[in-house]
Order: sequence, then structure tokens, then C-alpha cells
Amino acid sequence: MVESMPGVVGETFSENGRRDEKWSIEQSEELYRIRGWGEPYFGINAAGHVTVSPQGDRGGSLDLYELVRALKQRNLELPLLIRFPDILADRIERLNACFAKAIARYNYPGVYRGVFPVKCNQQRHVVEDLVKFGTPYQFGLEAGSKPELLIALATLKTPGALLICNGYKDRGYIETAMLATRLGHRSIVVLEQLEEVHLVIELARQLDIKPIVGIRAKLSAKGIGRWGGSSGDLAKFGLNIPEVIHAVEQLRAAEMLDCLQLLHYHIGSQISCISAIKEAIREASQIYAELARLGANMQYLDVGGGLAVDYDGSKTNFYASKNYNMQNYANDIVAEVKEACEEKNQPVPTLISESGRAIASHHSVLIFDVLGSSDAPADVPSLGEEKEHLILRNLRETYDSIDEENFQETYHDAIQFKEEAASLFGFGYLSITERAKAEQLYWACCRKVYGIVKQREDVPKELEDLEKTLASIYYMNLSIFQSAPDSWAIDQLFPMLPIHRLNEEPTHRATLADLTCDSDGKIDRFIDRLNVKSILELHDLNPGHPYYLGMFLVGAYQEIMGNLHNLFGDTNAVHIHLTPNGYQIEHLVKGDTMTEVLKYVEYDAEDLIESLRQSTEAALQAGNISIEESQLLLQHYERSLRSYTYLS
Ligand SMILES: *Cc1c(COP(=O)(O)O)cnc(C)c1O
Repeated sequence: MVESMPGVVGETFSENGRRDEKWSIEQSEELYRIRGWGEPYFGINAAGHVTVSPQGDRGGSLDLYELVRALKQRNLELPLLIRFPDILADRIERLNACFAKAIARYNYPGVYRGVFPVKCNQQRHVVEDLVKFGTPYQFGLEAGSKPELLIALATLKTPGALLICNGYKDRGYIETAMLATRLGHRSIVVLEQLEEVHLVIELARQLDIKPIVGIRAKLSAKGIGRWGGSSGDLAKFGLNIPEVIHAVEQLRAAEMLDCLQLLHYHIGSQISCISAIKEAIREASQIYAELARLGANMQYLDVGGGLAVDYDGSKTNFYASKNYNMQNYANDIVAEVKEACEEKNQPVPTLISESGRAIASHHSVLIFDVLGSSDAPADVPSLGEEKEHLILRNLRETYDSIDEENFQETYHDAIQFKEEAASLFGFGYLSITERAKAEQLYWACCRKVYGIVKQREDVPKELEDLEKTLASIYYMNLSIFQSAPDSWAIDQLFPMLPIHRLNEEPTHRATLADLTCDSDGKIDRFIDRLNVKSILELHDLNPGHPYYLGMFLVGAYQEIMGNLHNLFGDTNAVHIHLTPNGYQIEHLVKGDTMTEVLKYVEYDAEDLIESLRQSTEAALQAGNISIEESQLLLQHYERSLRSYTYLS
């Protein structure tokens, strides 16, 4: 592979103002499928830059590329996570509007009261914003653990909003949740394990509080895909039906059956198929109505999470997509619940959803720069004076003979000759220069074959990988382990594209490699019209001009699940709010410095400096380093400790 950094490769042309005659922004829209996954928030303007319209076509928009340039001028380094709180506001509004519309359409005699599952994004500014934007809708919070409960208790101030307490619970958790009702919180303790039932009964007596109790049921309806294991008999959480009945009897015996007011289920996240959602709500509505019939004072039906995000914009039941929209989702829930309750002559519940992904994903964009690229060798080596080794002559002949008839056969010949060259080299019959030529010729054959394959409708199976083999590698100033852990851990797809130069044809096909020394630190799966593609179309790197890529829809789960692999820390983050005259930076959250990440693994910066100082002193005494060099080294060391973990 030939290494080339910006400044070495690529033709020079001016960044701005260059319009490619052959390429339009509509072609970029189509290529990166931005209308599919980005509407109504993301688009491309006439300058070929990505735009952000937090309120869709109801509000203003800004140029993302210009924003990044302006932020860089304020010394904010990349990678940079940009949050748009206005998008959060819009998501909450949309979700509530969809339920309001469904409720009106089906004459549902009840209301919707959503909650945000804190685990989806616990960042203080995000949760505070959600509570603020949710106030008109009495939007509440859901906690899945004790620390999340602490966040919810301190942050949720909205009168009448629900505080759903899920997850494994001990005495302290339940007691805290119950006492919170004394502060006016409408906290609901959801029983997830049978052991929690007697704890709740006992603590209610001790505190003399009548808690609102819910039950999480294990449905037999299953989610599908990645998170399908969240329901069904083997699910980690929830009570199976015999256990539900057992809990009802225990509560009845304790004269607390009137406390049981909520039924909850969660069949998994990113449910891409509407039929799975329907099946679950149908089963849950029956359980709900039956619990009411058994004498529980049922008031709430909590359908959990699962409302999916269309990451690839295909509107299909592919796992990175969804075959329904938010309105279909609300309609189906409202209609099914109404029907089941009418049949059983029970009043309808207040509907709750715990939609995390659907609320938070769109509001964050990760921006990073490309540090350089490497390509497979492109040139055919020139012929020297001397007669070449037989294997090289064979490869040249193969290269010359490739045509539309024989491309498959000649491709196999090229592979075979390359392997022969490697083994000849291993036995000492080929010099390293000759081996280099052999590999160059092999790559030249691959390119020529690819040129033919690209024109064809039907690509032979064995040539499908050729595109990936010939792809450039673009090096990202980023750690996917820190910033997009789901891309590495569960092959999640996030839409990615350059945020500028979208009026130029992207002439390179690339896979992406990150900064970590881990062979898994790469991205070679990208959204496509159907299924997944193994390369991303990118532009030539221009000497002296940075090249910025955006990874979109990363507002849910990625931040907190990110890890410190190779000690790349949290990225810088900014909150951008649109104003009538432009935008305002609401919050700036500086990423980790090296001192901070080293502290996570118990290194003290002062100790490290002292240790290095002693080594330099010893080297000075031994005459191995000059005083100037030793000072320079110490300066670099100390400056690094104070700086960002990524490359500047
Ligand atoms: C994770 C989780 C959610 C959020 O799911 P999304 O698919 O992100 O909406 C909701 N409820 C429970 C119980 C969860 O565990």
C-alpha cells in the first residue's frame, strides 16, 4: 500500500466555487440517500454543503460546513459532536402530535403521556432540555437503574409528568421511588422480578405510602432482530403470566391491589417491522384488560421502547430501517388498545411510550476530519532494459490481454501469478524489487477487470469483492470505540457523508479506518438503497484543505457506551441553538484531556511528570541528552497531558 497524506496526493483545485459540470447536488442526495434518512432535518445547499433545519421546513436552517469552520476558529478541535437541541424539541413535538392525532382519529377517550428513557442519553444538558421541551406535554422520564433515578428525581419538575422506575431494584431504590411521591412526583414502581413484590408491600407498610405499582410482563410476542431477546420466555426482565397472577394475588392479600395501576412491556429496540409492534400491543391490551377484570385499578399501559429510526432511509423492514412511520405507530397502538378495552368493557388507559432512539438519535452529528488515505498501487511499472523474470512477463501479458470476453479467466490468472511470485520470493528466486513489480502488475490487472465489471449489469459472484479490494482506505481522526460503539459491537449502520464538496463528483471508493491500533477500528459497511455496501464514495483529498465527514443520527446510546480503547477520550461537544439571526452556542462541553483519561486508569499526571524528569536528569548526568533536548521533551510531555487525546 502506498501511504499518502494530504499535501502529497490529489490534483489541486480551489475548494470553494468549483462546480463540477458533470455532477449535481441531486446526484449527491441520491448517492448518500440523504432524503431518505435526513428529512426533514438534513439537506444539501447550492454550495454543496450539508444543511441542518432543526424544525424542518417550519424554521430556519444553517450550513453545517460553515458552522464547523466557525467552531474551529474558536479553537474547538475535531472530532466534534454537535447537538441540536431544537431537533430534540421537534422530535418530542412530533411524537406527541402523532399520538394526539391518533387519539382524535379513533375517538380514544384517554390521553398519551410519554416518558424519555434516561439510559438512551444521560447527558445532563440533553435530559434537562428534554424535560423543558416536554413540559407542555407533561412528558416524563424513565429510569432503569439507581443512578438514573437520581438524575430523574433531580431533573423532572413537570407537574403531572410520570417517573417510571424500571430495572432491578433493591430496598434503597424502591424506598427512594416511594418517598419521591411526597415531593409530588408521580413515580411508578414497575415490578420486574417476583422478589420485588414483597419488598414493595413491606416498604409501603413501613413508610405508610400507597405507591403506584406497575408490572412488566414478558410477552410471547417477540421483537425481531438485534434486540429480539427483550421479550419471550427467556427474556431477562419481566414476569411471565403465572408470575403476573402470583403478583396480583400477593398484592390482593396485602390489600394493595388498588395500587396496581400500570402494565408495561418492552419487546426490544429498533423494531423495524410494524407487524411485530401490532402483535405485541394486541397481546398486551388483552393482559391489561384482564388485570382490570381481576380487580386491579388499571390506569396506564406502557408500551416501552422500540419505535425505530430509519438509518438507511429505505423505509423497509431491514434492521437499519423501519417499514412504518411515527403516525402508523401511534395509530396502531391507539386503535388496538381501544378495541380490546371496548370488547372487555373496561375503561381505556393513559398510554405511555418510552421512546428513546426515536427522540434522541437525530439531534447529534459527529464531525471528524480525514487525516490521509492509502490506495492500492495504481501504475503499471515501466519496462527496464533487462529481460524481466518470467513471472513478470506472464503478468504483463495477462494485463495486456484482459478484455470483455476473458475478464473472469484473466482475473484468476493474475491471482495465480501473484501467488506464484510470493512463493518464488519465499524461496529466494525473486528479488524484493521484482516482487514489488509483480504486486503492482497484479493490482493493475484488478483495476482493469474492475473497469469492465463496473459496466456490467450482472457481476459474477467471485468478483463482487473486487470493489472492496480496490478501495482506498481513508484514515479518520476518530475512535469508533469511543464515538460509534454500536458500529463496531453490533454492526449498526449510521449514515455518513462529506459535509462539503457535494457539488463535486466523489471519485474515490473508500473504507474508513480509525485512530486505534485495533483491526476492528474500521468502517466497511455503509447504508445503501438495498442492504449494505462495502465502500463509501468520497472525494480526492486536496493538499492544504481539510476534508470533513459527518456521521449522522448518533444521538442515542453511542455516547455512554463508548469506551476508552487506546485511551481516546470523550470528544468535544457543543449545543447549537438556532436564533432568528443565526445560531448561538448554548453549551460547550470540552472533551477529555490526556490527564483525564490517564486518571481513569489510575495514573497521576504529577507522578508521571516526576518520573520522566528523573529519567531525563539521569540521561543528562550520563551525557546522553543535552539540557535543551531534555527541556523540549519535558515541555512536550506536559503540554500533551493538558491537551485533547485526538490528533490536531
Ligand atoms: C432501552 C429501553 C427503552 C428505550 O428503547 P428505544 O428503542 O430506544 O426507544 C425503553 N424501555 C426500556 C425498558 C428499555 O430497556
